[in-house]
Amino acid sequence: MPQLRQSIITGDWVVFAPERAKRPSDYVWKAHQKQEKGDGCPFCIESKTSSYPERVRTLDKETTYTVPNKFPAFIEDPRMCDPKRYKIEDEFYSMRSSLGGHDVVVVRDHDQDLPRFTEAIWDDILETFTDQYKHFKDMCNVEYVMPIYNHGPEAAASIDHPHAQIFSSIIIPNIVAREISYTKQRHDDRKECSFCELIEHEKEQNLRIIFENDDFVAFTFYAARFPFEIWILPKKHQSHFTDMKGNDRGNLVKICRQIFNRLDVVLNDPPLNFFIHSAPVKERPMVSYHWHMEVAPRLTNYGGYEMGSGVIIDIINPESAADYLRMGQKVKNSAKQT
Ligand SMILES: [Zn+2]
Ligand SMILES: [Zn+2]
Ligand SMILES: [Zn+2]
Repeated sequence: MPQLRQSIITGDWVVFAPERAKRPSDYVWKAHQKQEKGDGCPFCIESKTSSYPERVRTLDKETTYTVPNKFPAFIEDPRMCDPKRYKIEDEFYSMRSSLGGHDVVVVRDHDQDLPRFTEAIWDDILETFTDQYKHFKDMCNVEYVMPIYNHGPEAAASIDHPHAQIFSSIIIPNIVAREISYTKQRHDDRKECSFCELIEHEKEQNLRIIFENDDFVAFTFYAARFPFEIWILPKKHQSHFTDMKGNDRGNLVKICRQIFNRLDVVLNDPPLNFFIHSAPVKERPMVSYHWHMEVAPRLTNYGGYEMGSGVIIDIINPESAADYLRMGQKVKNSAKQT
């Protein structure tokens, strides 16, 4: 029987209807042909030029370089402080300039791929994210910084050459605003960080945990909006991504390599997005919010009900998804129906 589950982070409901699932082997992705490296690839060409601005050039690392997005969603302009914030258009609508910043972190080697990134690549990407959080914290028109990664054309990666993106925005994005407000309300009632409670509960239950090390834990999310959705959280309470200290980043690198490698093995390199949710850059340390990384494989599309209701119908229970990921073998036809 389908079940409704509520997220303790947003309060949103998700429908689980595993009987709608196809055979388990249908989760296994049919591989797509990656574009060859060479002159046709914009990021191979870009790496040979040095025409990009001084600020992003300081973000260059051994295995990655950073460029401003050619078609930015948020325009970087430190002079436009826009104290009025909103403008009223046609004496009716509210609007504002889409300010912030939009950068691309490119892995230098075209032939590297997310599931097999080396420790050095992960470390360079995560260090660039940290640098960008610190840079945009002081910008008058940036409230939020969100690093993301699109892997595969079905997950909106328009260029095959491996790259992450960093969106810095004058607004706090909708989902993050909901997470912050719902967990703040929950904190007012319970005097606990919902994410710390979540980690404790998942460790006790041990139904959905896939990997764990001294500083991080990764599990499938109870109220997952996507089949095989995975959350990675720091075990210590940290509201901001930049709160990582000591060995934290090294252990984040380790767990990321395990997770993306495991998804590749079990689901044959599925298209996916990952994104980092952290407290807003100008916010002081928050007791009710806890940064995390969400991994969203893109194995299904949304239909009219999801679009019309905002309620997602998921077709695999996160407990079964965790079983497959822990087993670490490609999902086969003979596997039990989920
Ligand atoms: Zn390339
Ligand atoms: Zn916490
Ligand atoms: Zn989140």
